[in-house]
Amino acid sequence: MKDRTPLLIVGHGTRSAAGVGQFAALVARIRRREAVADVEGGFIELSRPPLTDAVGALAGRGHRRLVALPLVLAAAGHGKGDIPAALAREKRRHPGLRYAYGRPLGPHPLLQEVLAERIDAALDGADRAGTWVALIGRGSTDPDANAEVTKVARLLWEGRGYAGVEPGFVSLAEPSVPAVLERLRRLGARRIVVAPYFLFAGVLPDRIVAQSREFAADHPGLDVRVAEVIGDCDALADLVLERHAEALRGDIRMNCDTCAYRVALPGFADKVGRPQTPHHHPDDPAHGHDHQHHHADHHHEPALRPGQVAVVGGGPGPDDLITVRGRALLDAADVVVADRLAPAGLLRGLRPGVVVVDAAKVPRGPSMAQETINDTLVAHARAGKRVVRLKGGDPYVFGRGHEEVLACAAAGVETVLVPGVSSAVAAPALAGVPVTHRGVAHEFTVVSGHLPPGHPDSLVDWAALAQARGTLVLLMAVDTVGRIAAELLAHGRAADTPVLVVRDAGHPDQWTARCRLDEVGALAERDEVRPPAVFVVGPVVALAADPAPAAAAPAPAAVPARG
Ligand code: SAH
Repeated sequence: MKDRTPLLIVGHGTRSAAGVGQFAALVARIRRREAVADVEGGFIELSRPPLTDAVGALAGRGHRRLVALPLVLAAAGHGKGDIPAALAREKRRHPGLRYAYGRPLGPHPLLQEVLAERIDAALDGADRAGTWVALIGRGSTDPDANAEVTKVARLLWEGRGYAGVEPGFVSLAEPSVPAVLERLRRLGARRIVVAPYFLFAGVLPDRIVAQSREFAADHPGLDVRVAEVIGDCDALADLVLERHAEALRGDIRMNCDTCAYRVALPGFADKVGRPQTPHHHPDDPAHGHDHQHHHADHHHEPALRPGQVAVVGGGPGPDDLITVRGRALLDAADVVVADRLAPAGLLRGLRPGVVVVDAAKVPRGPSMAQETINDTLVAHARAGKRVVRLKGGDPYVFGRGHEEVLACAAAGVETVLVPGVSSAVAAPALAGVPVTHRGVAHEFTVVSGHLPPGHPDSLVDWAALAQARGTLVLLMAVDTVGRIAAELLAHGRAADTPVLVVRDAGHPDQWTARCRLDEVGALAERDEVRPPAVFVVGPVVALAADPAPAAAAPAPAAVPARG
């Protein structure tokens, strides 16, 4: 009887045309079985068809519930992180879509049997008893995935009569292919079959062949043969269908007892409780051959490495006005050094155990405080922590962000900068006022009011600003706006120029008021006008949408419906 719930087979993708062909052949084979009503296959990267097309095809045929099966031998980065992330994007694209996530394929007796067949084919009649097998897995930064390969090596040996089976890895883990071959040679092996524990052809299986040949060439007395990969075959189709049925029964067991994201394993304690982060996928030649380094993939969010400081703009206040990149780095942080204006809601959402340093509470005067903050950032980074310096708005708009970046650089600490939504633009916007508007203002100038006009340290040419016709946005000006207005009026700015003040923009208690330029000094005396507030001076203020889009409401800002 056909099962009604469709099967979505998810591959990670490869640059190998042969590998893509084998994947497609397997999907076709499973379709021909007619055990499942509808079957599609897609890749999360590198190969066609992309996952989104496969999901689109199933959704287009009216399916709302499906089984998504990661076509991987062991649960590592692809199975635990990348494929679920890609599926989450599909769920957003297709509201109402639900899926049961299947288990990785191995270890499974069917796979051991196929491996034995591939090894026998390579032996071509030579006896098993005189044969050592090097079972080569992909290799992972996830110790649990490497342990799975080791388990399969043992299972493959049991009862099959090989002299022995030793596990090895083609990337990211030891022993490497040459290392395991050398180990077998020293154990006295005369004949070795290298068996790739891989589903399909690809860059890495090719590398296994090349490394085995190289080793054989250096050891002429040794008989080294390489077996085929598992490939498209009936046993694999059986196994995929078994995983489909299992997912429908809700009978999914991942081995979490030895998962580095759950339990502290020696050398991997920093992974506990952390989301699985995308890392280097050595199948992708775009990353070069330096496969011992796990750096952030350019097409993924950048990871924050231990010892790095990320200076992150948190946006003007609401939790969801931080950038996606900033949020990802915040989720990766061990230590967060937060500004007074950094969105407080974001701090409440941190993992338990994350150290939060409130920079607003750093004692002593303001310049000393900055030095203390710099020292704090450097000290935590040097202790091997992932440090996020979370700031309000954009870190480079009156945020002293660059001072911190320079201080880290001077101490030899690497930094990552994530821009943010600045209150200079967001505060007027959240109050319904655009800083530019066609035919009204072709420029906007953001000015700090922390020093009044005439102050010896001031770098602002107030007379020139008075002559300008565009929008003037004043930050940190609650105490000085009266004197600034007087200066602008004295240099010719019109007395009836409209002014908007926005306090606590984006917060539930956002407060706004409007007046003329010659009235703002008096307005600023009112109790409601207190930091943090932004003043907007110029004709755009008269354009304020009434009511403002999502004026006093917290995020998300309303987007006017079209049509
Ligand atoms: N880096 C920040 C600005 C820091 S200076 C940014 O890009 O937004 C601090 C000033 O920013 C405050 O005095 C105030 O003028 C303004 N500000 C910051 N957040 C604000 C908010 N939510 N509402 C109104 N003004 C804000």
